[in-house]
Amino acid sequence: MDIQNFINGQYVDPAGGTWLDNYDPSRGKVYGRIPDSDERDVQKAVDAAKAAFPIWSSMSAQQRSEILIKVSKGIEARLPELAAAESRDNGKPLKLATRVDIPRARDNFAFFATAILHDSSDTHDMGESGFNYTLRRPIGVAGCISPWNLPLYLFTWKIAPALASGNTVVAKPSEVTPVTAALLGEICNEAGMPAGVLNIIHGLGGKVGAAITEHPEIPMLSFTGGTVTGQTIARTAAPMFKKLSLELGGKNPNIIFADCDFDEMLKTTVQSSFANQGQICLCGSRIFIERPIYEKFKEAFVERVSQLTVGAPTDDNTKIGALVSMPHLEKVESYIKLAEEEGGTILTGGERVQLEGEFSEGYYLRPTVIEGLEYTCRTNQEEIFGPVVTLTPFDTEEEVLNMANSTSYGLAATIWTSDLKKAHRVGSKVESGIVWVNCWLVRDLRTPFGGMKNSGVGREGGFEALHFFTETRNICIKL
Ligand code: NDP
Repeated sequence: MDIQNFINGQYVDPAGGTWLDNYDPSRGKVYGRIPDSDERDVQKAVDAAKAAFPIWSSMSAQQRSEILIKVSKGIEARLPELAAAESRDNGKPLKLATRVDIPRARDNFAFFATAILHDSSDTHDMGESGFNYTLRRPIGVAGCISPWNLPLYLFTWKIAPALASGNTVVAKPSEVTPVTAALLGEICNEAGMPAGVLNIIHGLGGKVGAAITEHPEIPMLSFTGGTVTGQTIARTAAPMFKKLSLELGGKNPNIIFADCDFDEMLKTTVQSSFANQGQICLCGSRIFIERPIYEKFKEAFVERVSQLTVGAPTDDNTKIGALVSMPHLEKVESYIKLAEEEGGTILTGGERVQLEGEFSEGYYLRPTVIEGLEYTCRTNQEEIFGPVVTLTPFDTEEEVLNMANSTSYGLAATIWTSDLKKAHRVGSKVESGIVWVNCWLVRDLRTPFGGMKNSGVGREGGFEALHFFTETRNICIKL
């Protein structure tokens, strides 16, 4: 299966005529090719996006909204096909793609299509001397670059607000998981989106991503991915004074107090540790447990985790699918080895799983739980981004906050307690852009989404995203 770039409403081959292999991680086999695009393809996409900008930006919010709602409905209509494609491309359980990834991509479009109908801008009254009003206008061509873990979900989380606010887009999905992004072009055409409004270029980060980042006619960049890539992008974009939104890595703490609802906490903690094979930037990878329930938690958690079915993504019983690629599997394994070198004990998991038949060469790893590590060691400080968590006991709030806040990251945290005051106290002190109390991954798309410290710059979600993709102009009227 070959996929093509989507430029000016048409599917086209890459300018250089070269292609990259696309792997099915559940089988460990190449199953298609994707364009190995370069700066020439990006230039064509920018030209198309620039030409479409006057048409798209001058449409009323209502007109744009109607087209984006049709895109949302188009995703809904093709949900089974998109979910199957996502699962095959990424290795995630089909059930997860059907219940979470694709519905969320649909909702991203519906949310921003309707949000623009409710947005308003400010006036600042200066009494008899005059007043100010603030305009927010689309900027031009937005560059959107997304990762492989939640492919269509995160791709549309950027594209939908960029388009809704009147910009045109040049987007690059991860080269590792390009297929659903490619299908989105068809859906946009069917929805009546004018040619050139959305352009999708496939290829390597160092070529296509870099060409988007460096392009002088792309004045804003929304990026989700690793912290090191974010640094590379910022180095190029900052001197060009581009608007920049960076959603980066995490090493999220999961803080469990002895007074929590144990059963609810246990069920959710299994999910927050291993959903999508632990490859969600919001997964809690460092689990801190108050000492009085440490042994009870350890025993119950390890038992549940060891029962999670590792299997083919298409199998209904599968809880843990394949990791996204062989290099990623090897990276995760290297951290398990490091954890042992650092004195950790593997309580469950740690080894590959070989399935039968056509899935025998897939990238499967048993979910892994480790204890006995210092909170300062590399395993507990660096992002692993796989099905690996560590357990650490604590005695006081002060101690757990110190451990939780000890990494360079600050994306998400989870707190489990029945004491409301404690929840507020700890929630306000944990250094995370997103804090969940007695829950995980409960999302309201209106809320600010993003991280502190090395987890990013800026916030996505709600009006924050719409405002990022607009330029603000204050007009002062003297009476
Ligand atoms: P990467 O940073 O490797 O890649 C992200 C995207 O950037 C890909 O499309 C990649 O292309 C592209 N890219 C790579 N190099 C460059 C470059 N020099 N210039 C421009 N673009 C480039 O991240 P992963 O895909 O490995 O995703 C995992 C990471 O994403 C984790 O660190 C995770 O925490 C983070 N993440 C953060 C989220 C958040 O909301 N904060 C949400 C989800 C994930 P290619 O695929 O071709 O390399």
